[in-house]
Amino acid sequence: AVRLRGITKSFGSNLVVEPLDLEIGRNEFFSILGPSGCGKTTLMRMITGFETPTAGSVELDGKTVDRVPTRQRDLNMLFQSYALFPHLSVYENVAFELRVRKTAKAELDRRVREALALVRLEDFPQRKPSELSGGQRQRVALARAVVGRPAVVLLDEPLGALDQKLRKEMQFELKRMQREVGITFIYVTHDQEEALTMSDRIAVMSKGRVLQVAGPTEIYDAPNSRFVASFIGSC
Ligand code: ATP
Repeated sequence: AVRLRGITKSFGSNLVVEPLDLEIGRNEFFSILGPSGCGKTTLMRMITGFETPTAGSVELDGKTVDRVPTRQRDLNMLFQSYALFPHLSVYENVAFELRVRKTAKAELDRRVREALALVRLEDFPQRKPSELSGGQRQRVALARAVVGRPAVVLLDEPLGALDQKLRKEMQFELKRMQREVGITFIYVTHDQEEALTMSDRIAVMSKGRVLQVAGPTEIYDAPNSRFVASFIGSC
């Protein structure tokens, strides 16, 4: 579904993402794991087309992503610094994209309620973001990212503000969506255990370089470098 062809990104003389070729399959749960500042967000922004690579290209179903108008890109990204509309209710925040797309009323209502149930917020549709906890706001943003059922959903540390129990529930729900809705997830996390349990494949990044791309078992049992081994915690 997603093909990266030799993409690289520099800001001035600072090489933030080294040249990278990668293919992410349809319906795959693909995680990008690495320490703070290693270039994960920049890589995600290039995949969405918000950031133009210094060289190389990103293709989504065979089309170069930054040549497709934003609204027609069949993907959605939940940023770390997600912003909800403060004046809109939880319901309207989630419904926003469907309203822009002029989704029929009954269908819109069904989808919004389904997305809110998914993140366990079906009891608060009329609250404003200011009346929610940080974790609840994060869940609204997650509902908003999946409500349009895009082919590809990119999530940058989406569960960071949640307690352990909710985190587990959301992990389960994301895997269920992957299975049942057929969404491709590209998932950024610092959490090794989360990456190992949820992913079909993991890319481990350090200082702008993808060191290894492999399934969880291989990453854990056969890390290709000292960095991967110590970051994954298998040594
Ligand atoms: P974190 O997990 O802390 O968000 P990250 O792995 O997502 O980190 P990036 O946000 O991609 O890392 O940043 C990688 C590097 O690129 C950092 O050194 C950052 O300072 C630099 N960088 C990111 N965006 C810009 C920009 N617009 N201009 C200049 N430098 C940038």
